Amino acid sequence: MKRFVDELGEPYSFHYVLRCGESVVVSCPVCGGAAEISRHEDAEGCGRGRVRCSSCSYRADEPASDLRFAASGICCACELWFNESVTDSRQFTQKHIHIACPNCGADNQVPLRVLPGGRVFGSVTEKGRDPMFGLPLYFLSQYKGTPIWALNRRHLAYLIDYISADLRIKPQGPMLRAASYRLPKALKLAKNRSGVLKVLLRLRNLS
Ligand SMILES: [Zn+2]
Ligand SMILES: [Zn+2]
Repeated sequence: MKRFVDELGEPYSFHYVLRCGESVVVSCPVCGGAAEISRHEDAEGCGRGRVRCSSCSYRADEPASDLRFAASGICCACELWFNESVTDSRQFTQKHIHIACPNCGADNQVPLRVLPGGRVFGSVTEKGRDPMFGLPLYFLSQYKGTPIWALNRRHLAYLIDYISADLRIKPQGPMLRAASYRLPKALKLAKNRSGVLKVLLRLRNLS
């Protein structure tokens, strides 16, 4: 019997992976090959994102943005954490604002946060695009209409271990959620296990 001990927290969120010095693999918009988003220090010692393709010369820096406000919190309906930029200038003077959850659409009231300026926020979209350049992830597929994606090979290996385990264990710890919390429920069902695993193994075989 294959046991799997989950990881606590959100080790596979887009910004966390970049902050840890790892890269996120996306499809190159020019040649379709694997391009990597990583973080590097700019002249002011500020971490900025950059995407680079190893198959062609495509390269781009994190788009400068004038976004200055964000709203984040745990959704009152689906309980997933969100972090969205706020672009409606009528809301800039408010202390609390209403924002639709990007995961389920429920209305949430959260405090308005002022950002250090010029940073890109957000998570991988429901359809599997990165929040910085809007490119589709390289390890992206679907199972019966439910998107399946991994940020990079380490994340893919985590998903394969999780899905192929007979027994999934959430370790004890200070955090309420384990990494698998973000996986769509359809992908976790026992009856879908072999189908989902097949999709993941096909992704792993991508060069
Ligand atoms: Zn390319
Ligand atoms: Zn929600």
